[in-house]
Amino acid sequence: MRKISAHYIFPIAQAPLRNAVITLADDGTITDISTDQPNVQEMEGVEFYNGIVAPAFVNAHCHLELSYMRGKIEQGIGVSEFVQNVAYQRRQARAKRVVHAAEFADALLYESGIAAVGDIANDDSCFEVKKNSSVFYHTFIEKFGLLPRGEADVGVGGAHIGAGGAHVGAPVRGLPREGGAHVGAPLQGLVRVAEGFNIRASVTPHAPYSVSPQVLQDLMSLVNPQDMVSIHHLESFAEQQLFETGWGALASLFLAMGLTLPPANGEHSLRYLSQYIARDVQLLLVHNLYITQRHYDFAASHWDNLFWVLCPCSNWYIERALPPVEMLRKNGAVIALGTDSWASHPSLLLQDDLIVLHHKFPHIPLHELLTWATLNGAKALKINHLYGSLEPGKAPGLVWIQGADLSSLRLTTATTVRRLL
Ligand SMILES: [Zn+2]
Repeated sequence: MRKISAHYIFPIAQAPLRNAVITLADDGTITDISTDQPNVQEMEGVEFYNGIVAPAFVNAHCHLELSYMRGKIEQGIGVSEFVQNVAYQRRQARAKRVVHAAEFADALLYESGIAAVGDIANDDSCFEVKKNSSVFYHTFIEKFGLLPRGEADVGVGGAHIGAGGAHVGAPVRGLPREGGAHVGAPLQGLVRVAEGFNIRASVTPHAPYSVSPQVLQDLMSLVNPQDMVSIHHLESFAEQQLFETGWGALASLFLAMGLTLPPANGEHSLRYLSQYIARDVQLLLVHNLYITQRHYDFAASHWDNLFWVLCPCSNWYIERALPPVEMLRKNGAVIALGTDSWASHPSLLLQDDLIVLHHKFPHIPLHELLTWATLNGAKALKINHLYGSLEPGKAPGLVWIQGADLSSLRLTTATTVRRLL
């Protein structure tokens, strides 16, 4: 049993507490949160921490298998260039390096206070890492596919690096194409492989611009009612241009590669998705860098269980822009946070996304920001019965937030976060 206290405890499920003590069983399950305790700093048997104690974080969007691309891709180049660089790096990858980098990233995620991750996978290269991890992973088996079935003939995800394989080159330069029959068989195969590793997994499309109607239709036939769909959405200005006008950097890339432009050309991307993703599907829209009120209104009217996952550090790395946080807050959007991959995040630390957001939007209460990084992420991944808030019966893990300004409850550039248990 442990008893823990701090200047502030943020249970998230209720307002921040002072003079409170959390009691935990040996397995990390919270048994009690007592309030109005006098002299918590002096109480016998209580570990007191200078700063803030909160539930461990939930990183709602990551790509563990891209960790080996850390520092390999230049900043500020825009998504079109970035995607081509990722494809190039994938062709250079060696399985051992992929796995070693993922192990390192997984350890960093754990130590930095991440309890759970919504992780995108294009292959099985990191399943073993996840199986051995103390972090909970929900793996989204992601599918690209641009041409209608039968028009091309390449495999799942294009640049595939199998668990035992050394190096399999991508069949096309840049974005992978779809081909052959129903996309289901290889994807379901990967889900079964994941389940063999005791990893929770489900299928998901990559982005509105990178899946053809046929692929989207096939994919959604594989999504069970209990599954979530996590899709990259309006991560770049080029993507917005592609859907709204049919031109721009991404459109040029498609044409240069001989690919068919998405049929939603002239409509916005959410209208396209809505034709295939049903109202009751729990949908995680990731990035949303260029959404407007029109996008928000459409999404909110079409899907009942909607999560807006923001990755500010990644957006700044690639596009030198931040998402429209105030518009989302004004509309009461349910916001969660992700780091995205180490290819586009300088540190892979979710705390840096929080610090960036608090620096840019200092009026946002810390309680609200931490809710995005904890409970909302847990709800997005449907694990909030265990993670995301300090409540008796849950075992969410704890983080210790040091170096925040406790008088104003603001994060600072000196703020650090580390796992307590
Ligand atoms: Zn991503």
